Amino acid sequence: MAKYGLVGAMDGTERTDSARLDQICLFNLLSACADTIYFKDLESRFIRVSQSQADLIGAESPTAMVGKTDFDYFSPQHAAEAFAYERQIIRTGRPVTDLHEWNVRIGDRECVLSSTKQPLRDFSGRIIGTFGITRDITARKHTERELLAKTHELERIGRELRTLLESSPDPMARMDRDLRYTYVNPAATALAGLEAADILGRTSSELGFPEDYTRGWESALRHVLATGEPADVERNLVLGGTRRFLESRIVPEFDDDGQVRSLLVVSRDLTERKRIEETLAEQAVRDPLTGLANRRLFVERTNRALAALEGADTLLAVLFLDLDRFKVVNDSLGHAAGDALLVAVAARLQAAARRTDLVARFGGDEFAVLCERLSRREDAAALADRINRALTEPIRHAGQEIHVSASIGIATCCGVATADSGSGSESGPAADADALLRDADAAMYQVKARGNGAGGHLFFTEPIREQAVSRLAVETELRLALERGEFRLFYEPIYALRQRRLIGAEALIRWQHPRRGLLPPAEFIPVAEECGLIVPIGLWVLREACRTLAAWTRIYHRAHAANPAEQAPTMAVNLSVRQIADSGFADEVAAVLRRHRLEPAQLSLEITETAVHDAPFSAGTVLKALCELGARIALDDFGTGYSSLMHLRQAPVDILKIDRMFVSELGRLGQDEAIVAAVIGMARALGMTTIGEGIETAEQYRRLCELGCDQGQGYLFSPPMTAELFRATHLAQAMRAAPDTSA
Ligand code: C2E
Ligand code: MG
Ligand code: MG
Repeated sequence: MAKYGLVGAMDGTERTDSARLDQICLFNLLSACADTIYFKDLESRFIRVSQSQADLIGAESPTAMVGKTDFDYFSPQHAAEAFAYERQIIRTGRPVTDLHEWNVRIGDRECVLSSTKQPLRDFSGRIIGTFGITRDITARKHTERELLAKTHELERIGRELRTLLESSPDPMARMDRDLRYTYVNPAATALAGLEAADILGRTSSELGFPEDYTRGWESALRHVLATGEPADVERNLVLGGTRRFLESRIVPEFDDDGQVRSLLVVSRDLTERKRIEETLAEQAVRDPLTGLANRRLFVERTNRALAALEGADTLLAVLFLDLDRFKVVNDSLGHAAGDALLVAVAARLQAAARRTDLVARFGGDEFAVLCERLSRREDAAALADRINRALTEPIRHAGQEIHVSASIGIATCCGVATADSGSGSESGPAADADALLRDADAAMYQVKARGNGAGGHLFFTEPIREQAVSRLAVETELRLALERGEFRLFYEPIYALRQRRLIGAEALIRWQHPRRGLLPPAEFIPVAEECGLIVPIGLWVLREACRTLAAWTRIYHRAHAANPAEQAPTMAVNLSVRQIADSGFADEVAAVLRRHRLEPAQLSLEITETAVHDAPFSAGTVLKALCELGARIALDDFGTGYSSLMHLRQAPVDILKIDRMFVSELGRLGQDEAIVAAVIGMARALGMTTIGEGIETAEQYRRLCELGCDQGQGYLFSPPMTAELFRATHLAQAMRAAPDTSA
C-alpha cells in the first residue's frame, strides 16, 4: 500500500493533515496544471479531469465531463485508439509512455499530443481504471518541424555550395590569419599541381613558390588582413613549366568581433585569354603564310628606326622585292605551288639577311627587308646580291623545280643630311617609311622594266622618281584618252620579200596626246599593261584595224574582180598578254571578223615571245581557240626571249617575226647571221612563215632574201603611216600592179 500512497507511513493526525494535503495537491494539480490530467474508470469513463483538459476540449467544466468518454469529445478514430490503449493497460498493468498522437482534431484545431497513460490502482494495487497526463505539443512540434526543414535547407545549400566550389573552374582557397591554407578547391590543386593534403596547413612560401613571387603575393594578402578591404590582384608564376596568369580577388572574412578571421581567394586563370590576346596581337603584324612581318609591322619598325637614325652617321636601307614571273607559277602550277614557293623564298630571304634585318611580306609576291646601321650603300647592294644568289637554286615542289628571281629596288636614308651626295639617291633624315617604300618600289619597277625577267637590283635615284611620277600621270590621262578618242592607228606595210608584193600591214598604235603630241607605244603601252587599261585599248585596236582591213579588202576585191584567187590583204594586230589571259577574247575576235565579213586568215595576231613565256596557263587555251578560228598567230620580236624549239612546237604559231636586233646586224656580224639562218631553217621545218622586222637597208633585204625569209617590213619599204596615206600609196600601188600579176 505504501507503494501507492504517501499516507501509509504517517500517524493519525499527520494522516488527516496528510490526506488534506493530498487533496490540496490533487486539487492544485487538477485545477492549475498546464498539462491535462484525467482519471478514467474501467470503462474508460472520466472520473476526474483537470481544468486544462476541460479547456483543451472546450467542455463546460471538469465536472461536466465526469461519466463521459473520449467518444463524446474526440473523433471516433482517436477515441477508439485511446480506448484500445486503455484496454491494453488495464489488461497488462503496463503503462504506455510518451505516446505521440498526431493530427488529433480538437474543435477546429489539429493538435499533436504527447501522453503517458498508466493503470489506476486502488490502495490494494488492483486496477480500477486508468489515468493519463497529456501535453499539447503542437507548437513545439511545429517549431521542431520548421527547424528540421531549415536544417535540411541549410544542408542542401551547403551541398550545393560545395559542389559549386569543387566543380568551379576557378581556383579558390581560404587561408587563416597566418596565411596558411585552410581550404583549396580542386581547380586550385590542379593549377598548383599538388594534392590538397600537401597544400593545407602551409603558406605559399612553405609550398616552395619562388621568393619574388611569394613576397608580392603575401604582402597583398597581408594588406587585406590589415585593412579589411577586399582587393584585386594580378599575378603570374611558372607552374608545371608554363607561365600562368592569374587574376585574384582577396576577400576578408570577419569574426563576430569584426576582426578579419580568414581570407578567401577567388582566382581566374587568364593564361589562355592572355595567350589568345597575344596571338591576335601577333597575327595582326604577321603574314599568316610565311610568318614574316607584315606591312604594318614593317612600317612601324622602319619609322622607329628612322627616328633612331637621326644624327647617327649610319645608313638605313629598305629593299623592296618583287618576284619575277610569280604569276606564271601561280597560274600554271596552282596555288599550292605558289604558296610553297613563297614560303621557300621567305626562308631564303631570312637566311640571306643579317639577323638584325627585318624581313617582311606585303602580300602577293612582294617582300621587303629593313637594314639598319649600314656603314655604306654597298652593304645594301651586297645584301641584294646575296638574296639573288640565294634564289638561283631552284625551289622544289611536288617533284617540280621552280626557278625564281627577284627584282629589288633599294632606297636608303642616312642620319645626317649629306650635302655632297650629288646623286640625290639618299633621303635625308626627314623621310618616313612610306616614302622609303615608295622610292624602293619605284626603283624595283625600273628593274622589272628592263624586262629581261632575270632579277637584279637598282638604287633609287631622282630620275627614277621622275619616271614614277610621270608614269602615274600617264595612267591618269590614259583613262581619259580612250573616251576622248585620242588613239590613232598607224599602218606599216609588210611585203613578200622575193616578189616585193604587198601582203598587208601591221597596225601600230599612237596616242595623239593633247599637249605632248603624237606618242609612240613605248610611252604608254607598258603603263596600260600594268594598270589593265591595255584590255579595252587592245579591243579598240582590234576593232579599228579590222574596220580598216575591211575597207581595204573591198577595194582589193574590186581591183582583182577578174582574179578572185588573188589573196586579200592581211592585218597584223599586236596583243598584250593580258588580252589573251581573258577567256572571252577568242569570241570577241570571232565577232569582229564576222561583223566585217573578213576571212580569219586575214588577221594575224602578234604576241611577243616574252609574253608567251610569261602567259598564264589559260592563255594557251585562248591561243588554241584563236588558231581554231582560223586566225594566224605570229610570234613577235623572236630572238629576244628564251623560247626553246620544243616550246615553239607546242604553241600554235604560224608566223615567226625575226627581231629587228638580228636584222640590223645582218651583213655585219657572222654570228647573228648564223642565228637568223638557223631560225629561218627551223621555222620552215615547222611549216611557219618568217617575217624580218626593221629592214632598213638594201643589204639587209638582200641577205634575208638569200636566207629564205618569206616576208619583211621596215623603213626600207615604209615607216608606219595613217590608213589614208597607206591606201593612197602602198595599196594604190599594189592595185596598179594587179593587172600585171593577173596578166
Ligand atoms: P613591234 O610589234 O615589234 O612593232 C614594230 C616596231 O618597230 C614599231 O614600233 C615600228 O614602228 C618599228 N619599226 C618598224 N620598222 C622599223 C625600222 O626599219 N627601223 C626601226 N628602228 N624601227 C622600225 P612602234 O610602233 O613604236 O611599236 C613598238 C611596239 O609597241 C611594237 O613592236 C609592239 O610590240 C607595241 N605595240 C604597238 N602597237 C601596239 C598595240 O596596238 N597593242 C600592243 N599590245 N602593243 C603594241
Ligand atoms: Mg608587232
Ligand atoms: Mg616586233
